[in-house]
Amino acid sequence: MATPSTILLFGGTFDPVHNGHVDMFNAATDNIKPARALIIPAGSPWQKGRLPFASAADRIAMLSLALPTATIDNRELTRDGPTYTVDTLRSLRAEYPDANLLWLIGSDSFSGLDSWHDAVVMAAMVTFVVVRRAHAGVVPPRGNVVFREVVCAPPPVSSTDIRNRLSRGESIRGLVPDAVCDYIQQHRLYNTRSIP
Ligand code: ATP
Repeated sequence: MATPSTILLFGGTFDPVHNGHVDMFNAATDNIKPARALIIPAGSPWQKGRLPFASAADRIAMLSLALPTATIDNRELTRDGPTYTVDTLRSLRAEYPDANLLWLIGSDSFSGLDSWHDAVVMAAMVTFVVVRRAHAGVVPPRGNVVFREVVCAPPPVSSTDIRNRLSRGESIRGLVPDAVCDYIQQHRLYNTRSIP
């Protein structure tokens, strides 16, 4: 019997993608060596309580610049209504019935999994691959959630931090890939004044 192929899934708002995302994705793919890796930008992430600041097209463009060899999967962007991860997993399961699905996640999001829509159903569908976020331990959510940890130390950066810096006219060089920095400046995203 053939071994089911492993598919690594990395969901997020990526508003914008930053070096924390890039490092954790690279560490996870090096460690797991999945048959496929899909980056899944969120359409309308209900957990954030607001729509993304940048358009779907801009977030995809920045992801393509940051992770040029990765496959970007737009299924959440083409779906109406709030982005529930469980719906994404159901559609991936239908597409890849025999695959071993892994969901890459930061320790902060993982610890809050209990509050996600249909968390129990979701946890039965994937193995979580958890990366420790700076200043946050890996605290598993309640219930029987299967997870493994990838040990790496992504920089302690967040998209919120990037947006705040830009709105104050501060530099974000070194916090996002240079090509993303240039894209943000060229397209005047996130109230960019200029990037020193
Ligand atoms: P925001 O600041 O807008 O809330 P974010 O920086 O947390 O955004 P997301 O796109 O929401 O970025 O994150 C996608 C996934 O990546 C989440 O699972 C999150 O926990 C994880 N993640 C983001 N940044 C880091 C980081 N620096 N280290 C480890 N995990 C991270």
